[in-house]
Amino acid sequence: MRPEKNREVRVGDLVFGNGSFQVIAGPCSIESEEQYRTTSEFVRSCGAQALRGGIYKMRTDPKAFQGLGPKAYPTAHKIKSEVQMPLFSEVTDPRQIPALGEIVDCFQVGARNMHNYELLKELGRQPRPVLLKRNFSATLLEWVKAAEYIELAGNDQIILCERGIRTFESATRNTLDLGAVAYVKTRFGYPVIVDPSHGIGIADLVPRMALAGMAAGADGLIIEVHSSPEEALSDRDQALSFGVFQRLMKQIHELSPHFALERSLRP
Ligand code: PEP
Ligand code: MN
Repeated sequence: MRPEKNREVRVGDLVFGNGSFQVIAGPCSIESEEQYRTTSEFVRSCGAQALRGGIYKMRTDPKAFQGLGPKAYPTAHKIKSEVQMPLFSEVTDPRQIPALGEIVDCFQVGARNMHNYELLKELGRQPRPVLLKRNFSATLLEWVKAAEYIELAGNDQIILCERGIRTFESATRNTLDLGAVAYVKTRFGYPVIVDPSHGIGIADLVPRMALAGMAAGADGLIIEVHSSPEEALSDRDQALSFGVFQRLMKQIHELSPHFALERSLRP
C-alpha cells in the first residue's frame, strides 16, 4: 500500500519532504565556541542548510567524551543565531526537553534511543519536529512503529534517518541500508535523510555514500564535519575535513536536481 502523499516536515524555514534537498552539517560534538563557530561558518559558506552539533552523546564507552551537556547551551544558541541556521541536536533523556527545546529547532533521537518509548512519547507531546534515527538492529517496521509512538502522542513532524545497521561486516563501522530509504519513503511517505558518516564510519568513503543516499531518494543528508578532524573529541575517523566537504557540496548542488523524481513519492 502506498501513502496518498508525502508528509512534509518544517524545521525553521526549511521543509523536508517537498522535493527539496537539505544538508545538515557540523561536528559530531560541540567542543568549544571557536570550534563550533569556525565549522558552522564554513558549512554555511558551502551551502549547508542546517547545523548539527552534539551536546549529549550516547557513547558506547562510558569513559569516552560524553558531550559538554548544559555547558554547551550558550555556545549552541550563540552560534546558530550568528549563522542564522536551524540546529539539530540529540536529546537523550526526557528531562532535557524543556531547556534543550529552547535551543534546538529539531530534536534528534539517536540510534541507541530509538526504542526508548517514554522519550518518544514525551517528544510527541511537545511542538518541535523530531529526527528519528534507526537503531542499528531495528527492522524497518520497528522503526516505523517507533515513529508512530511520537505521532500518536500528538506530533506528526517526524523525519526518519538511516544511519547504518549492524551486519556480519566488520571492515566498515556499519552497513548503510539504502534499500531502507526507498522502502520507508515510498511505503510510508515520511521524509527520510541519510547519515553517511555513521553509515560507513570512514571519512574518505563518506562522500560516495552521501551521493548514493541522494540517488536512493533521500530528502537530505546529515554529515559530520570538523575544523581539525584529527583532533575531534568524538568520531574523528569519519569527520570530513573542510576541503572534502566543500568538494562534496559542489557535487550535491550539481546532482541534486537530477534526483528530484526519486524524491517524489511516485517516481
Ligand atoms: C550522532 O549523530 O552523533 C550519533 C551519535 O548518531 P547515532 O545515534 O546514529 O549513533
Ligand atoms: Mn557522531
